[in-house]
Amino acid sequence: MNSPSNSPDIYEDGPNSEQIICDFKNILDRNNPLEMQEFIENNYPGWLCGVTDEYSHDYSFLANNWKIICDKIKTRPQRIITVKRVFFDKKDNVRHHTIMTFCEELTRKGYVIRRMDEFINCSVCYKALPTYELWEHMKQKGLPVPPEWDTVCSGCKK
Ligand SMILES: [Zn+2]
Repeated sequence: MNSPSNSPDIYEDGPNSEQIICDFKNILDRNNPLEMQEFIENNYPGWLCGVTDEYSHDYSFLANNWKIICDKIKTRPQRIITVKRVFFDKKDNVRHHTIMTFCEELTRKGYVIRRMDEFINCSVCYKALPTYELWEHMKQKGLPVPPEWDTVCSGCKK
């Protein structure tokens, strides 16, 4: 059981998952972002990597898409949360129900969940910028990305 492929999955559901989900929903209803972050960190240490208010203005289409999604579900954009991993369990093998519920509930409240290998923070203003790989992918898809990839927003450069 010690081979890497069998190493324990720290993001799997624990024995208290129903209680954890219930507590998490209550915390979200109280609308206390700091309490919410601490709760996630206590239950799944290291999963939550960063929280930022918005996308870099260089990628306004991302903010527009976010707004459209929020309008549809009648909420307002809250924050962008970067996490270590996202999960897509199969119907017959649900092992990450707790963490997937965190994502669903946060999305319903207007948060965006992104993988840490997709987004970095501008080193000046901390707004979210795509990684090089995602920028390249978006460019190939014909999305209106800046012509050059950078680690800071165009408006934050000296
Ligand atoms: Zn910036």
